[in-house]
Amino acid sequence: MAKKTIADIDVQGKKVLMRCDFNVPLDENCDITSDDRIVKALPTIKHILERGGAIILMSHLGRPGGVRNEKMSLAPVAKRLSELLGKEVAFADDCVGAETKAKAQALSGGDCMLLENLRFHKEETIKDKAAKEDAQLREAKDNFARELAGMADIYVDDAFGTAHRDNASMYTVPSVMEGKPRVIGFLIEKELKFLGETLSAPEKPFVAILGGAKVSDKIGVIENLLDKVDNILIGGAMAYTFFKAQGRIVGKSLCEDDFLDKATRLLKQAEEVDCEIVLPVDTVIVSELKAGAENKVVAGDIEADWQGVDIGPETRKLFADKLCGAKTIIWNGPMGIFEVPPFDEGTKALSLAVAEAADTEARSVIGGVDSASAITKLGLQEKVSHISTGGGASLEFLEGKKFLCLEILDEK
Ligand code: ADP
Ligand code: MG
Repeated sequence: MAKKTIADIDVQGKKVLMRCDFNVPLDENCDITSDDRIVKALPTIKHILERGGAIILMSHLGRPGGVRNEKMSLAPVAKRLSELLGKEVAFADDCVGAETKAKAQALSGGDCMLLENLRFHKEETIKDKAAKEDAQLREAKDNFARELAGMADIYVDDAFGTAHRDNASMYTVPSVMEGKPRVIGFLIEKELKFLGETLSAPEKPFVAILGGAKVSDKIGVIENLLDKVDNILIGGAMAYTFFKAQGRIVGKSLCEDDFLDKATRLLKQAEEVDCEIVLPVDTVIVSELKAGAENKVVAGDIEADWQGVDIGPETRKLFADKLCGAKTIIWNGPMGIFEVPPFDEGTKALSLAVAEAADTEARSVIGGVDSASAITKLGLQEKVSHISTGGGASLEFLEGKKFLCLEILDEK
């Protein structure tokens, strides 16, 4: 059951309302420091413009909390998009209102307009649960969505990064546009292909690598993957909660004492379904965390006043061995405090091992902002099959959660 994409419908002479993720990083002068997200949206935008559609683009930027904030204006994005497209991109100073509506009406085929930050209006982020319990909120959210929807004939969602939320522009707008074409763009199509197919029909052996700071963030992912993967390699601070659950001493390493029982249960569950959870066999520890800090490698307990900051050299070899021959790999979360060198060595070694496996045709999917940045820093982004653009969204996808705002869009 694949979703219809923008390529499946006729946009000629139609007004297309498209939700993008233009939540780009800005510096103190409101200059865009990375236009990656704008560049990624280009294929879908060009496809529509070249086929004679008029586009109304909408996005959020930052967390302005429902009020106007010039520091979070999307105006710089309109300018950059215009440069990238080599054509004028009109900018509407407000995402709704009479003036914006008139501007939208005046658009003809091949025209492109960007609306101001959706989150300047508090209605955008009203949660559906809250709206169900409060008629006033419901009405406010619906009216806001109807104003947006009223400008267009077609709805396109290409913002995977917010696809796990029930924001007005993501969920309520397509809901009120029932009967009109509601489809996905090429970015989401790619995300669904890689994340979706990887989980539903993985070629075996299937290895998951999980790291990062917290077990609590990734319990849902571990639970969902247990009966799908052959191995789960655990690095990062997550490992220490598992160590402590096994009765080991972890010093002052980051550890979640509230999740010791859960960790024990996960280890037992894994055994029952024949999934091997592989924990580190050695750890790089420091007594004080700073760049280039004096450090040592221990195989067993971590003494008091010392903190685990990376997987050790033996673990790097062990994890690389486990990846050798894998046909499917999912990776979420760095292996150590990779922001502070040399404690990025474990993450680097793992990135190289994933890239090597990809050389032998393993499908490799990277989810998570920090893991993606680690791979990109090493210049290995071309080696892997897919780097997800959605941090929280990719995590929820790996947890097996349903995305309401995608469910309501048209099926092929
Ligand atoms: P992602 O963004 O890829 O999903 P997370 O946000 O879950 O990854 O985790 C990334 C964070 O985990 C990084 O900031 C990193 O410093 C931290 N981290 C990794 N290993 C450790 C460790 N041993 N101790 C403390 N923090 C760690
Ligand atoms: Mg992160």
